[in-house]
Amino acid sequence: MMEQYYELKAQAQDCLLFYRMGDFFELFFDDAKKASAILDIALTSRGTHIEESIPMCGVPIHAAESYLARLIKAGCRVAIADQVETPAEAKKRGGSKALVKRAIIRVVTAGTLTEEALLDSRAANWLVAVARAGSDFGLAAADISTGRFETITLSEGRLDSELARLSAAEVIAPESLVQQAAYKNRIPQAVALSNECFNSPHGEARLKSLFKISTLDGFGIFSRAELAAIDGLLAWLDRAGQGKLPFLQQPVRRAYADHMLIDAATRSSLELTASTEGRRDGSLVSSIDHTVTGAGARLLTADLGAPLMDIDVIHKRLDLVEFFFYDTLLREDVRDLLKGSPDLARVLGRLVAGRGTPRDLSLLRDGLKQAFILYEKLFSLEPKPALLEQILPAFRGHGSLVDLLERALIEQPPIDATQGGFIAKGYDHALDELRSMGGESRRAIAALEATYREKTGINTLKIRHNNVLGYHIEVPSRHADALMQANSGFTHRQTLAGVVRFNASELHEQAIRATQAGVQAIAIESKHLACLIESTLEKRDHIAACADALARLDVSAGFADCAVQKNWTRPTVDDSCCFDVIQGRHPVVENALVKSGERFVANNTNLDPKNRLWLVTGPNMGGKSTFLRQNALLAVLAQTGSFVPAEKARIGLVDRLFSRVGASDNLARGRSTFMVEMVETAAILSQATNRSFVILDEVGRGTSTYDGLAIAWAVVEAVHDINACRCLFATHYHELTQLTSRLPALSLHHVRAKEWQGDLVLLHEMAEGAADRSYGIEVARLAGLPPVVLKRASEVLAQLENSSGKNNDSSANLSDLPLFGVQAFQTVLPQNDPLYDAVSELDADALTPRQALDVIYRLKELA
Ligand code: ADP
Repeated sequence: MMEQYYELKAQAQDCLLFYRMGDFFELFFDDAKKASAILDIALTSRGTHIEESIPMCGVPIHAAESYLARLIKAGCRVAIADQVETPAEAKKRGGSKALVKRAIIRVVTAGTLTEEALLDSRAANWLVAVARAGSDFGLAAADISTGRFETITLSEGRLDSELARLSAAEVIAPESLVQQAAYKNRIPQAVALSNECFNSPHGEARLKSLFKISTLDGFGIFSRAELAAIDGLLAWLDRAGQGKLPFLQQPVRRAYADHMLIDAATRSSLELTASTEGRRDGSLVSSIDHTVTGAGARLLTADLGAPLMDIDVIHKRLDLVEFFFYDTLLREDVRDLLKGSPDLARVLGRLVAGRGTPRDLSLLRDGLKQAFILYEKLFSLEPKPALLEQILPAFRGHGSLVDLLERALIEQPPIDATQGGFIAKGYDHALDELRSMGGESRRAIAALEATYREKTGINTLKIRHNNVLGYHIEVPSRHADALMQANSGFTHRQTLAGVVRFNASELHEQAIRATQAGVQAIAIESKHLACLIESTLEKRDHIAACADALARLDVSAGFADCAVQKNWTRPTVDDSCCFDVIQGRHPVVENALVKSGERFVANNTNLDPKNRLWLVTGPNMGGKSTFLRQNALLAVLAQTGSFVPAEKARIGLVDRLFSRVGASDNLARGRSTFMVEMVETAAILSQATNRSFVILDEVGRGTSTYDGLAIAWAVVEAVHDINACRCLFATHYHELTQLTSRLPALSLHHVRAKEWQGDLVLLHEMAEGAADRSYGIEVARLAGLPPVVLKRASEVLAQLENSSGKNNDSSANLSDLPLFGVQAFQTVLPQNDPLYDAVSELDADALTPRQALDVIYRLKELA
């Protein structure tokens, strides 16, 4: 046995090995130590190896899923070695001592789960492969629980934002990449595979064989990096299924221009799909999620993670939301129908993975029936929004499959197929006959009880059944003697405390009949199950399309419901560079305030190319961050195709969204708060275009006052002059307000506060102009700082203000300092520079060596 174990363990590599023994999966050696610690189960030992006892622990098969879930959550990977023949087959093959053959049937990892119990029904479960070809990075991502499959090519700088969008359960990458210091931080959890697993010609071949096609032209043109990533992804999946690939839809090639670019820092600071603590609660998605199905919730999360850039598509989505917004009855009907509908995508995932149950087929049957009811409800409506017109055909065309499943299956089939009983009566006459034979035998057996009681005169005689003896006769011990007689017609089987068990010839015959009929019936049912699954899988693309369409319907009706409940409005999205919001609100903060009976104060925002940078001042706790974030969220919502929390909103398409809000400590990566702040600010300055939307909160706060002010000052100038993006900049540095005279597109705003009867009242209301004072000490009082400290602070403040008045504070002269002029940046991002232009126009790949030499001479002349 140990020999077999070692062989399997070698195949399992770095996975824990679940080794099947009877009704348990056993783990040995270090695996046992690790698993018992994680699972908090007993570590025992069994036998010895090199004179040391072998540590062992085990989990019962019937509860294996919940143990697996905990191991996977703890970051383990598990290879499952099951018996691939019965003990009887082993005996036949190699005699009575032969060991039952075992093989790894599956490798379970975080990114390759399909078990319902291990998956969150409202979240996608992405497995992402990263590969590099030259300077390009390729990502291939698959959610095998639903079959979604996407690829993208991107530059190194965009790797973070795409990985953040996918928020993968598991990332795999070539070892050469994982080992490079530069990527260690970016893909910290990545599983390193050998570089050979990421080979683009190989990836192409795998893709062709997966989809049984001879050319990939129909999928668009994959980059080399994408094909290499696909190779790695498929290799990993192949290993997980031990040669059996899961269901994958045709790969969707994403282009960067497809969606708004939001980097990892911005995503987490805006808490789009997870709060800063990493939970769904408290995030944007959780506060606006009115979907009623798991698939809808997953699509909503995916949508919010990738707001669109195509105005037409945004309008199509908005049209459908509007359609449901105004038709309350229809909306309620559709949502009611969706509410009970099964998760088709995940059912399909299980069927393809070979773990489909009779229950899954019935879920599919019911889901497709539901889809058709929706189709009938929506089809007759005129006029229909274009998106509805587009998705409706996916709801129909399943009639023959539904019909087959209706005929074949009982209403509520069991999950466990091994006991049979799920094929409906009338579907197969041979099966019906077997069942009735079995039934007759069982009835005959029941009747035998009375016969034997009469024959023996023992009223307490019973006919029983168990898995070891099968059918048998049981009498209390005190009556056993009579039956023990040689000519009694009963054969002794077993004596237990209190009862003795017997067999008899008629009982034996009937029992054999019943069992044979039962075994044959189960075999027939399992054949039917395989056929039904096969017929279903033939239609898998159409079923997957139906699942997607149902999810889209759920998201749209959910957006409409949210908009109605919360009084949201349809935004106008166009290709201007405006950002015009009347009475906008923060969806998450408003939710929280409403729950505690408070009111959220709505505010206007009005940015356009001539007035695109707002400098927002005001006391702490005044609502600056809230205001900044609410506008960023409005842009995300609008481009996702949702209504927005405002009275009116016109949003010019935002290509990239950046948020640098608050001091998010990232000490785990060994960077100080200030360093993180500067790295993020640098990213914004180097990437924001005039179509971007940037919110910056308290930049420069993490360092000394003058350094901080200097940096903030320079950043404002750069954002204004170079990036020319729309920007809301909140700051404590009142000195910055002087910039308004030099920067024409900058305007001053503040959150209002007033003192009333000695107390500070924060109005959370935006007003034009700069704040008159910062109210820091009053806010500290609100926070409960001890009176003696407050008094002392007031004295120090008075002194400081006094002395700065006399000394004519140097900050007043900041605008004169050349360091802060725009010139400083022009050396970083040169403009109108012939040398720069010549270099940018170069297409290095298109040059012959001779031409390259010429270019060098030309550049030398320009320098
Ligand atoms: P600041 O960035 O100015 O320090 P925040 O934006 O963090 O202030 O807001 C502090 C608190 O004030 C929030 O947690 C919220 O409870 C409340 N608040 C902010 N904006 C509003 C608003 N518009 N209406 C009502 N309450 C608000």
